[in-house]
Parts: sequence; structure tokens; C-alpha cells
Amino acid sequence: MAACETSKKKALVAQVQALNDLIEVAKAVVSTLDLDAVLQAILTSAMGFAETPAGSVALYCQEKRELTLHAHSGLTADFVKNQRWGATPGGLTEQVLKAGEISFIEDTEKADFFNNPIALNEGIRSLVCVPLHFQGEIMGILYLDDFVPRRFDREKLNLLAVLASFAAMAIHNATLHKHTKLMAITDSLTGLHNHRYFKQYFKQEMARAKRYRKPLSIIMMDIDDFKSFNDSFGHASGDLLLSALGTRILQTIRGVDVAFRYGGEELIVLLPDTRLDQANLAAERLRASVQNGTAQELVGCATRGVTVSVGVASYPENADNMDELFNIVDSLLYRAKRCGKNKVYHQESLLIPAS
Ligand code: GH3
Ligand code: MG
Ligand code: MG
Repeated sequence: MAACETSKKKALVAQVQALNDLIEVAKAVVSTLDLDAVLQAILTSAMGFAETPAGSVALYCQEKRELTLHAHSGLTADFVKNQRWGATPGGLTEQVLKAGEISFIEDTEKADFFNNPIALNEGIRSLVCVPLHFQGEIMGILYLDDFVPRRFDREKLNLLAVLASFAAMAIHNATLHKHTKLMAITDSLTGLHNHRYFKQYFKQEMARAKRYRKPLSIIMMDIDDFKSFNDSFGHASGDLLLSALGTRILQTIRGVDVAFRYGGEELIVLLPDTRLDQANLAAERLRASVQNGTAQELVGCATRGVTVSVGVASYPENADNMDELFNIVDSLLYRAKRCGKNKVYHQESLLIPAS
């Protein structure tokens, strides 16, 4: 009788402990948007519930059909250097993704379908795979590993389903937050960064250029006779043109350069670690690319071409601060307009008399 009471008490204490752990995890989920920190907390609790010495959490990208490792514990450096993997046909991961249910392997050496050489090399003999669902989608998988064959207590593992839903919620929140942050700095029409982000980024890059004594160039361009384009083809076609131009700019610049829609039809590219002569070449490439990609190619208007006028200026060659550099590039752009449009102007160009 006393033994029965003791075991009941023990079970109760364990339940209270489990609930406390769940509360801690829930707190972590709502208090931070640092996804990897939340996943690490969830993994630690899950390993505690399942009493496993190792585990990991991977996020699933449906588009690429690929998993990426985001949290791990008790696994060797050799194992975790595999940051990405696909689901092997017929393998455990594929089964979990397909069935969307918790799966177990009590002895990996006896499970014919389990032939993941990396896991076998690691000495993983038993494991639990928990799919992380949110609104009908699998966002990732929680793996709990042991290095000996064993049975998993299903009662205890029920708690894993609760943890899995916390993890899925955390992934959803973090993804949403990332997306919202991106939207706040992106211009929806062109897909380029917006005016607000330009100001922030320009300041940051100028400070960096000064600190590391590196050049920084700015290219500013404006569509020639855009008003008449709108008048001829309609505002909607003008919008399409702007959007196509955004894509073209992104295709033309280097990965380290950043493009912005500064205003209506004024676009800017910031080129870190780039001298004036190099920036001039980039500007000319942009100008030519717009001219050669005729309006037909851009928006299906065969009857006229589209050109841009461009100004280019660099730190430290033309100015030693942000405002001055911006004013110079702005005046160079309008100089290019006055001197016939479809041209690239930099500081020396000012020496050429306007025709
Ligand atoms: P210039 O060659 O001197 O630059 O002449 P422009 O006609 O391009 O320049 P202007 O400043 O006279 O007019 C800019 C035009 O750009 C006016 C406006 O209708 C158009 N525009 C600005 N933003 C948008 C937009 O988001 N969509 C469309 N379709 N047009 C826009
Ligand atoms: Mg214009
Ligand atoms: Mg303009």
C-alpha cells in the first residue's frame, strides 16, 4: 500500500515537473524571436521527457524538399557538420514527412529501411522522429536519439506532441517576423529596397567605408520621359515597366551591391568597396542594359524604347560625407538629363560643357 502511494506520488511529481518544463518552453517561445534559441530550449526539454542523450531539430523547406539543422545536442562535430539533407526515398525522414506522425526505431541495426550511414556511424541505435506541424504544414522534424537499442515510453512521448506544437509555432512566428521585417524595407512594386532602408543603409555603409578606409560609390538613375510613357501606354504599363526595371537592375549588379527605389521612378544602387572608375563601368552597364532591353522585352511595348539617365559619385573621390555625396550624384543625374538623357555622368563629366 505504502509502495503504491510512493509510486503515485512519484508519478505526480514527474507530471508537475513535466508541466513546469512545458511552461518554461512556452515562455521561451513567446519571449524571443531568436528561432535557434527557442528550438534549442525545446530540444533540451524534449530530450528530458524522452530521456535521450542526444537529439536535433531540423527545419523543412517544402520547395527544396530539404531539411536544415537548427539545434542539436549530444552529437559529434562530424555528425552536425551535415547541415542540410534531403529525404531519402523509403527512409525514415520520408516516412515521417509523408505520414505526418511520430515514428520510432527501437533498434536501427534491425530496421531494414534505416540505412542512414551518418547516423549509423554516429552509433545511433534508437530514435524518435516527431514532425512539427503548423496549420497542416510540416515545418520541421524533431529527432531524439539514443546510442543503445531501447523502447520508448509512449505515455511520456505524448508530451512530445505538445512540445512539437510549440516548436512549430515558434518556427511560424520567426518566419513571419523575418518576412514582416523584409516587407518593411522592400518596395512592393519593384522588389528593390525602399527609401527608408536606403537612408539607414547609406549611413551604415558610409560609416563602414570610413572606418575601414574603403571606397563607397553611389549610382542614381531616373527613367527618361516616363511621364510620356505613362501617357502613351497607361499608368499600369508604367508600373510594369518599373517592376521589370527593378528585376533588370538586380540581374545586372553584383551580389554585394544593393539597389533601392528612392522615389517614384528614381532608383539608386550603392556599391560598397567600389572606386569611381569601377562604379562608372557598372553604371554604364546598367544604362546599356536598360536601353538594349527594349520596352518590348520589358513590358511588351514594341513601339518605343526605354532609357535612363544616370549619375555616379564616390567616397572619398568626390565627397567625404553622405549628404555631400548625395547632392553631387543628384546634380550629376539632372545634368545628364539636361545634356540629352540616356547618359552616365560622373564628376569629371561636369567639365564637359552642356550642349
Ligand atoms: P525626365 O526624362 O526629365 O525624367 O522626364 P519624366 O517624364 O520621366 O519625369 P517627370 O519628373 O516629369 O515625371 C515622372 C513621372 O513618373 C511622373 C509620374 O507619373 C511617373 N511615376 C512616378 N512614380 C510612378 C509609378 O509608381 N508608376 C507609374 N506608372 N508612374 C510613375
Ligand atoms: Mg524621369
Ligand atoms: Mg523623376
